[in-house]
Amino acid sequence: MNRVHAMETIRARFAPSPTGFLHVGGARTALFNWLFVRNRGGKFILRIEDTDRARSSQEMVAEILDGLKWLGLAWDEGPFFQSHRKEEHRADGLRMEAQGKAYPCFCTPEALKERRQKAERERRAWRYDRGCLKLSAEEVKRRREAGEPNCLRFRVPEGSTVFKDLVHGETKFDNASIEDFVLLRSDGSPTYQLSVVSDDTFMKITHVIRGDDHLSNTPKQILLYQALGVSVPIFAHLPLIHGADGKRLSKRHGAISVTDYRKDGYLPESLFNFLALLGWSPGEGKEILDPERLTAAFSFEKVSAKSAIFDVRKLEWMNSQYINRLPIESLLPVVKEELIREGIWQEDLLGERKPWFLKLIETLRDRSKLLGDFTRDGRPFLTDQFEYEEKAVRKHLKGEGLAARMKDLRDRFGQLQTFNQESVEQALRGLAEEAETSAGSLIHPLRVALLGRSVGPGIFQVTDLVGKERVLARITRLVEFLESGADTKS
Ligand code: GLU
Repeated sequence: MNRVHAMETIRARFAPSPTGFLHVGGARTALFNWLFVRNRGGKFILRIEDTDRARSSQEMVAEILDGLKWLGLAWDEGPFFQSHRKEEHRADGLRMEAQGKAYPCFCTPEALKERRQKAERERRAWRYDRGCLKLSAEEVKRRREAGEPNCLRFRVPEGSTVFKDLVHGETKFDNASIEDFVLLRSDGSPTYQLSVVSDDTFMKITHVIRGDDHLSNTPKQILLYQALGVSVPIFAHLPLIHGADGKRLSKRHGAISVTDYRKDGYLPESLFNFLALLGWSPGEGKEILDPERLTAAFSFEKVSAKSAIFDVRKLEWMNSQYINRLPIESLLPVVKEELIREGIWQEDLLGERKPWFLKLIETLRDRSKLLGDFTRDGRPFLTDQFEYEEKAVRKHLKGEGLAARMKDLRDRFGQLQTFNQESVEQALRGLAEEAETSAGSLIHPLRVALLGRSVGPGIFQVTDLVGKERVLARITRLVEFLESGADTKS
């Protein structure tokens, strides 16, 4: 029943409906299609299933395309729009009718509701009772000519439908459990079941890789392929993604669209890697794997049939790994974007001051989990507009004689001919010794003076990056703050 001969090119598609944003679950489906196709030298096709005109929108299409591109999931063909082949879908439905595999149904929604409710009252399972299957050809003709609304139903054959799912293994459905489902609505529009089969056939799709939520559609679609006399693709249904609480991932769990993760400061490289390991593992014990490694290792054999847990802490960890492993040059454009958003970007950071900027990013990156950390931690290096954190003030700006000690420190620094990490450290430690105090008692308030915070990179890296002039000015600002007995604001 399944096809794909040795020489046949693998063709898989991602078929999102633009009725919503690109959900991370959808992105994972796209990614598994992509990995499979790249691993097997096939084609990845993008089809936008926009037949629900009322709920589809151009914005959503644009967001889906943007999200896929951002993740690096380039497609080989498309995007195709399902709505453009409506007439062909209809023709496939009518062909099935002509062959006696589908039949018109005149039952009104009200009549169907009444019969369904009756079945429910009698505790009988309801499925369409084939009331219209018995109609004679003449009666159908007469009622159609009289303009009576009718839909087209597929006549589900007896028996069972069995297929070998690449994730779930052999899967069997009793056809008796499937009702004669609708192919064409009374307004003539094709339903999803018909459109998807018609398009997958037309596009010569060999593998349908999609979420588990479509598993129950599969027997219906297989019956349609068979009725149309075309070969049936191979199916792989991916387990759904759940939140840490075991419930299906939804807005309650926080960000769920690719765009949200992008805005929240995740790199495409880390989301790619993270999504690839949702429900699949190449089994090498390694977790940081680039697209080439993931592609080379991909196979459905190791895809789990159990739902996958979306652990945002793991994603965060992965993001910090990528922030630290990527070549520094590739971080520049994304950090720039963040700094622009924060209003603290300066053009010469990629011009004259580029060596300094590279040093700054190098210093900040091992403490960064999200791209936003570069703006939070980078701000005091890029502008004098920052405040002292209340917590830092309470913790480190206390004790008798601190203002005097900081003045001494400023004077020592001011006298330095060469202002570098070693000379600054020497000056600071020298003063601590003379004042019979710990180096820490100078370092902590100095960090607050320079960064406004109690945490940050090593203090001598900080003084180096901030530079002599601004270090002195900031110590002066701190001294004034201490002497004014001001609160937390500078
Ligand atoms: N358009 C469907 C969806 O977004 C996918 C259909 C399919 O993959 O067969 O859920």
